[in-house]
Amino acid sequence: MLGQMMQQPLLISTLIVHAERHHPEREIVSRRVEGDIHRTTYKELASRSRRMAKALARLGVKAGDRVATLAWNGYRHMELYYAVSGSGAVLHTVNPRLHPDQIVYIADHAEDQVLFFDLTFLPLVAAVAGRTKTVRHWVAMSDRAHVPAEAAAKIPGLLFYEDLVAAEDDRYDWPSFDENSASSLCYTSGTTGNPKGVLYSHRSTLLHTFAAALPDALNCSANDVILPVVPMFHVNAWGLPYVACLTGAKMVYPGAALDGKSLYELFENEQVTVSAGVPTVWQGLLAYVQANGLKFSSMRRTVIGGSACPPAMLRTFGDEFDVHVLHAWGMTEMSPLGTVCSFKPAHLKQTQEQRYEVMAKQGRAVFGVDMKIVDEAGQELAFGGEASGDLLVSGPWIVTEYFKGEGGNPLVTDEAGRGWFPTGDVAKIDADGYMQITDRSKDVIKSGGEWIGSIDLENIAMAHPAVAMAACIAAPHPKWDERPLLVVVKKPGAEVTREELLAFFDGKIAKWWTPDDVVFVDAIPLGATGKMQKNKLREQFKDHKLPTA
Ligand code: AMP
Repeated sequence: MLGQMMQQPLLISTLIVHAERHHPEREIVSRRVEGDIHRTTYKELASRSRRMAKALARLGVKAGDRVATLAWNGYRHMELYYAVSGSGAVLHTVNPRLHPDQIVYIADHAEDQVLFFDLTFLPLVAAVAGRTKTVRHWVAMSDRAHVPAEAAAKIPGLLFYEDLVAAEDDRYDWPSFDENSASSLCYTSGTTGNPKGVLYSHRSTLLHTFAAALPDALNCSANDVILPVVPMFHVNAWGLPYVACLTGAKMVYPGAALDGKSLYELFENEQVTVSAGVPTVWQGLLAYVQANGLKFSSMRRTVIGGSACPPAMLRTFGDEFDVHVLHAWGMTEMSPLGTVCSFKPAHLKQTQEQRYEVMAKQGRAVFGVDMKIVDEAGQELAFGGEASGDLLVSGPWIVTEYFKGEGGNPLVTDEAGRGWFPTGDVAKIDADGYMQITDRSKDVIKSGGEWIGSIDLENIAMAHPAVAMAACIAAPHPKWDERPLLVVVKKPGAEVTREELLAFFDGKIAKWWTPDDVVFVDAIPLGATGKMQKNKLREQFKDHKLPTA
C-alpha cells in the first residue's frame, strides 16, 4: 500500500522560492572584489537568479550542461548556485588555487560550457582561455566598468555578469524534474592520478541541507547571521548557501579578504553569530584579535573542520572569547557533512575540562550518515574499543562513483549487499558514538585546509637527473598545519643541493605547492608490494623543523 502524500521532487530551486516568500527582506551582505560592501536581500537575490537562469538559456545552456565558477564567496556566486542548478544545469565550482594545467584538465574533463569568474582571476582566465576545449563563454562576475579594457581584450568574446542580468526580466518558472538529476560538481584530488569529480544531485543536496541545519549539526536558524569563511568552491561552502535559504538566516560573504582584520570587521559590523572554516583561517583571525585586545560581541559559535582542530584552538575560543567550537568532519565525497561534535545530555554535567576533551573529537554521525570502522580483514570493530580502524560511511549524500566512472567502483560491499564508501581515514569510535580521526591512510598533504598531491611533487622530483627516489610527506607547520617535506635518495655518484631541487619545481606547479624543505637519506623504506612506506617516513621526520620564511 502506498502512502497518500504529495509527490514533490526535492529540488534546489525550492530553497530560493522558500527564502523569497518567507524571508524576502533578510539581508545578504558581501565584501566585493570591486572593493565595497554590497547589500542585497533574498527577494532581490531570487529575482536576479531567475534572470540569470534566463540568461543561461539564452547562452544555449541546457539541462545537464556544466557551468563553471572560479569565484570567491559572494552574492553573485550564490545567485549562480540557484540559477545554474535550479534551471537544471550543473554548477561546477572550480578551486582557483589549482595550477592552471589542472584547471584546464578539470574544465575539459567536466566539459564546462560557460565559465564565470571573479575579477581577481582575470590573469588566470587569460592564461587558460585559449587552452580549454569546451568552454564557449567566459563571464566576468562584474559590470563592464570594473573590467580594464586591456585585460578584457585578452579573453575573446568576454561577457559581463551584470549585462546578462540586465538583459532579462525575472518572469521565469523554475522547471520541475527528477530529484535525482545532477545539480553540482566538485573535484577532489585523489591520492593517485588526476582529480576526480563528485557529482551531487538535487535530492542529495536537499537531504544534506535539512540535516546540516539541525540543532545538533550546524545549528542554524532564521535568527542567525552566518559568515562562511570556507570557500564556495570547497564542497559548496559545506552546504551553507543552501542552509541559508532553508532557514532564512542573514548571510555575510567575505569575498577575497580572508585576513584577520577584514574578517573581524565583518564579524562585528554585521553582528555575525556563526561562522565556519578550516583551522588555518582561525589562526589568522585569533592572532589579530588577541594582538589588538579585541572581543567578539555577537559570534557565539564556529564550525571548524577540513583538518583536525587543534585542542589549543578550542580552548582559546572558549576561554578567551566565549565562542563555542563545533568540530566537524566530512569529505567532498560526503557533500561534505559526516559528523559534528555536539554534546549529549551527559556532557552538560561534565566539567569544562572534560568537555574540551570531547570537543577535540570529530563528533557523532548526523542523521543520514551511517559510519563504522573495520579492521584490516574488513571485520567491523565495536564502538567503544581501543582499536582504530578504517572508517567507512554510507548514506544518501555519499558518492557511489566518481564522475565518468573515474577510478572504478570505490565502494566496499558488506555481507548484506550494502555499499560503503571507504573514507581513507583511520578512526576510533567511542561508546557514545563519537568518532576521532587518528590518522589518514591517504598520503596527500593538507596545507591550510587545501590538498597538495604528494605524488605530483614526487613525479617532478623524480624527473631530476640526480634523484633516484623521492617521497613527499606532510611535515607539521605552525601556520599551515602541514607543508610538504621532500625526502630524496640521490643516484649513486650524483650531486644536487636542496636549493637546486626546490628551484626545479619553478613553473611546474602552483608556487604554494613547492616543498618547504628537502632532506637527503640513504634509503626510503618499502613495503611488501614495493610501495614507499610513508607512514614510517612521517614518523622518522615528525620532529623535523621546516624553515619558516
Ligand atoms: P576534503 O574532501 O578536501 O574536504 O577532505 C576530506 C578529508 O579531510 C577527510 O577525509 C579527512 O582526512 C580530512 N578532514 C576533514 N575534516 C577533518 C577533521 N575535523 N579532522 C581531521 N581530518 C579532517
